[in-house]
Order: sequence, then C-alpha cells, then structure tokens
Amino acid sequence: MKIICIGRNYAEHAKELKNEVPKEPVFFMKPDTALIIRNQPFFLPDFSTDIHHEVELVIKINRVGKNIEERFAHKYYSEIGIGIDFTARDLQTKCKEKGLPWEKAKAFDGSAPLGGFLQKESLPKTGILFHLEINGKTVQTGNSKDLIFSFDKIIAYVSQFITLKKGDLIYTGTPEGVGQVQTDDRLEAFIGEEKLLAFNVK
Ligand code: MG
Repeated sequence: MKIICIGRNYAEHAKELKNEVPKEPVFFMKPDTALIIRNQPFFLPDFSTDIHHEVELVIKINRVGKNIEERFAHKYYSEIGIGIDFTARDLQTKCKEKGLPWEKAKAFDGSAPLGGFLQKESLPKTGILFHLEINGKTVQTGNSKDLIFSFDKIIAYVSQFITLKKGDLIYTGTPEGVGQVQTDDRLEAFIGEEKLLAFNVK
C-alpha cells in the first residue's frame, strides 16, 4: 500500500503559500508508517515547531492500473474519504529554499491520519463539500468542484509514472486555511455533515 499526495491542487491554497498555480499535477508520497487510523492521537514530533494541518479528500484505489486513461479513471475508485496531510512547514520551507525533496517535512510517522470512507455514488456529482474543525471551530472548508486537477485527471496523470494498486490512497490536495496545530487540539473532519475523522493532538 502506498500513499500518493497531490500538492497545490486548490488555487487559493497555492496562493496562500505564495506558490504558482501548477500547469500539471504536483505529487509526492508518504510511506505506510505515516498512516494513523481508528482516530488514534497524533503526537507532535520534536523535529518541528510548526506542524500544519491540511485537510484533504482521499481516494481509495480499488484495482490495479497503469497508464489509465482519464475517461476510464472513475472505474478505479468507488470510495472517497477524508484525511489530514500533516506538514512540518518549517522543514518544508527550508527544503524548498534549497530545492531539496520534501520527504522529511511530509512523510514522517503519523503524518497521514485517515478517517472513514463513503461510497462515491452517495456523494453529489456537482461537488463534494468538506471541512475541518479544530476545537469546534471551522478552520478549513473545501469543495471538490474547486480542484485544479480532478480525481480522474490525477489518476490518469500519476498512473503514467506509478502503477496504482488496490488499497492505495491518494490525498487530493488541501483548500486554503492551513495552519498550525497545538498540543491538546481536537481535530474533526467532515464530508458534508458526516464526521469521518476525529482525533487529538498530543
Ligand atoms: Mg497537502
């Protein structure tokens, strides 16, 4: 199982970090050791003083595929969930300045909390609303209709380079409103009104 993450996939988020809006998808990966499931707590690592939340819709790949055409990409996922792409923003900024890979800022243990999934058919085709609350206050709101690269485009693009397998996860990018998490914060992530992820920061 692998975790593929799309960066800069909402124009307003690209702008808030002063990044260009990309002309083709930007992706990176996290190892399986990044996953946190069953609402287990996230422990702040001691190598960063600026861990940011990025709430993202997550696609679960349901069969193996390589060089998938965009028009067939919808056949490769039937469930959509929600997760957090935790980012050590201080380390990432240094990596970006030096033109180095982002792994230590993005792929560390526990950097990918994952919530429950919903059947794709049960979700609106016109756009999937999602949001993140911290301590009961909404901090990020997104709608899949604002994606720069759609789920199907992402699958087609990534599968040119990397074979997708059943159980692989694609974190599809975060909307604007990213920010720091602190000890004792409670994070709750929703698709529509349904709470699919809830955990504490320790
Ligand atoms: Mg992200």
